[in-house]
Amino acid sequence: MISRFEGSGMTSMRTRERLVSRLRDDGITDERVLEAIRSVPRHIFVDEALASRAYEDIALPIGMGQTISQPFIVALMTQFIVAPPAPSCVLEIGTGCGYQTAVLASLVSRVYTVERIDVLLTRARQRLRALETNNVWFKYGDGNFGWPECGPFDAVLATAAPPRLPDKLVEQLVVGGRLVIPIGDARRQWLKVFTRTESGVEESSVADVSFVPMLRGKQ
Ligand code: SAH
Repeated sequence: MISRFEGSGMTSMRTRERLVSRLRDDGITDERVLEAIRSVPRHIFVDEALASRAYEDIALPIGMGQTISQPFIVALMTQFIVAPPAPSCVLEIGTGCGYQTAVLASLVSRVYTVERIDVLLTRARQRLRALETNNVWFKYGDGNFGWPECGPFDAVLATAAPPRLPDKLVEQLVVGGRLVIPIGDARRQWLKVFTRTESGVEESSVADVSFVPMLRGKQ
C-alpha cells in the first residue's frame, strides 16, 4: 500500500521531481534545499481537496485567511538561511501549516516556530508529529517579540511581512546571524536579508514578494 506521505498520482514522486526541476531552472542551486523540497510531502500540509495541486509552484489557502507560501519562495528563503556559516538553531515566525517549518527541520538541528493563530499551530504540530519530526519547538504568541528565552538564534526566518524590521528579531540573532524577512505593506513588499554585525545590521534586498501581513498580538 502507498502511504499517505508517499502519495500517488498527482502527489507522486514524479510530480515532486517535476517541481524540483522547475525550482532548479528558476535559480535554486543548493542541492540540500532541493532535496528537502523533494522529500517533504507538501500535500499533507494542505486540505485534501487541494492535495492534487500541492506540487505546483503556487501559494495555496490553509484556512483562517492564511496561505502556504509558494515552493519557490520557501526554497529561496531556505537557501539564504542555510548558506554558510550553516546555522544549527533557527527561529521561524509564522508557522502557518508547518510546511516551511518541516523543510527547515530537515536541514538544521533545531527549529523554534511562533504562530499567533492557535488552530493553525495545533494542526502544524500534529502534521510534524505524524512525520516523526522531533526537532521543532512550537509557541503560540506574537512573533514580533521573537522567542527570547530560547535565543540567541543562528538565523531567523519570517513568513509574514511587518511594515518595518522588528528590533526584537535582530536582538535575538547571534553576531554574524541572518534574518530573512519580507518587509512592506499590502501594496509593496521586499524580501530582505539582514546580517547582524557587531554594531548593527547589514541589509540587502532580494526580490519583490507578496506575503500576508505580520499582525500584532495573538488571535
Ligand atoms: N510558512 C507558512 C506561511 C504561513 S502564512 C506556511 O508554510 O504555511 C504566514 C503566517 O504568519 C500565518 O499563519 C499568520 O497567522 C502568521 N503570523 C502573522 N503575524 C504573526 C505574528 N505577529 N506572530 C506569529 N505569526 C504571525
